[in-house]
Amino acid sequence: MASLDLDTPWLYSSIESFDGSLNIHIEEVNSADSLDSVDNSKSIVNYSRNIPKPPPLPAKICQKTNNQRWLADSCNVPKETKDLWDRLFKEGFAADVHIITENDSVIPAHYIVLCVASPVLKNFLEQSKPRNGIRYIKIPGLPYNAIYVFIRFLYSSCYDEGEMEKFVLHLLVLSHSYSVPSLKKVCAHLLEQHWLMTENVIDVLQLAKKCDVPRLSLSCVRMIVKDFKTISSTEGWKVMKRANPSLEQELLESVVEVDSRKQERLKKIEEKRVYLQLDEAMEALLHICKEGCRTIGPCDKVLKESQISCSFPACKGIETLVRHFSSCKMRVPGGCTQCKRMWQLLELHSRMCSEPDFCKVPLCRHFKEKMQQQSKKDEAKWKLLVSKVITAKNALGPFKLRRSGFS
Ligand SMILES: [Zn+2]
Ligand SMILES: [Zn+2]
Ligand SMILES: [Zn+2]
Repeated sequence: MASLDLDTPWLYSSIESFDGSLNIHIEEVNSADSLDSVDNSKSIVNYSRNIPKPPPLPAKICQKTNNQRWLADSCNVPKETKDLWDRLFKEGFAADVHIITENDSVIPAHYIVLCVASPVLKNFLEQSKPRNGIRYIKIPGLPYNAIYVFIRFLYSSCYDEGEMEKFVLHLLVLSHSYSVPSLKKVCAHLLEQHWLMTENVIDVLQLAKKCDVPRLSLSCVRMIVKDFKTISSTEGWKVMKRANPSLEQELLESVVEVDSRKQERLKKIEEKRVYLQLDEAMEALLHICKEGCRTIGPCDKVLKESQISCSFPACKGIETLVRHFSSCKMRVPGGCTQCKRMWQLLELHSRMCSEPDFCKVPLCRHFKEKMQQQSKKDEAKWKLLVSKVITAKNALGPFKLRRSGFS
């Protein structure tokens, strides 16, 4: 794959100074001078200030009905027709415009085609006076081949892929400056799909912003955020940092934002997992205390380590905890970690239990009574916990899918 010519001074300077328009010179010669007089810079009028702002893309102004859009999309130009227009351009038959590029190379073209293809070129051509039936316009500062590809596209929408790849950034700028949305679309698509790389993404982003291609800008930002470490050490980044510190700031903020969103998401997933585990623990506790577990309970039977637990995934864990709790010598709040955990689970149960008078879970009534004396702060904490557990459980819906056991 041919690499993009990123070292051309034009590209860097255009990124730094490109204000959405290219310099264009209209050759105004009244006498029947030879082409050589075109070189005379005094006779060249710079109309860059008069370049009108490109109109919005067709998508914004055309409110086609579905049917009309279908008709437009289904219009397939036969190859013969494209070839005909391509030949007309390449052979320059009866050309009445000379486009002068760097080193005074000339690309012959047709007034009427250029006027129809680009409103900006039309504006320039209308202002230029023909000399011996030929109008002259100069497009300086860009490689001849880039302008050749550009004008060819205006005739037939045809392009050579190698040439397109080589000049895609130039062509993106040309398409914007001369208001050729179809070419802009092709450049943006090819860049986005095939030619966006860590080495050029910063340059592409800057041009995409200046040429008003939001989708391409977004793709660039995504790529930068995804591979920030590599891209922030490229030459392109260093140049951008110097020339456009506000963009650097914007990109750094995007990286931080995406990172914190990711952290936030992970935190929420983890929180939800904990609340679901607590809900499972509550179910298992009720199941063990009410009916005793067929697999590992009732409490007086020896725990069989190897056996798979019953349909309550937290059953085995809770059973172990209950057994420890009943035999632990430090069975006080704030005692050993396991006992502390058991106390908390028992209290949580009591707070979620609606039938303390008939409940078989130990200490259910005790905690209900203790609640009356609790501080408002503790009370609020417990209420929040209870509501989070209920929300996590309800979020599962009627078809519960338990993945993790309580342990
Ligand atoms: Zn069980
Ligand atoms: Zn203990
Ligand atoms: Zn209870």
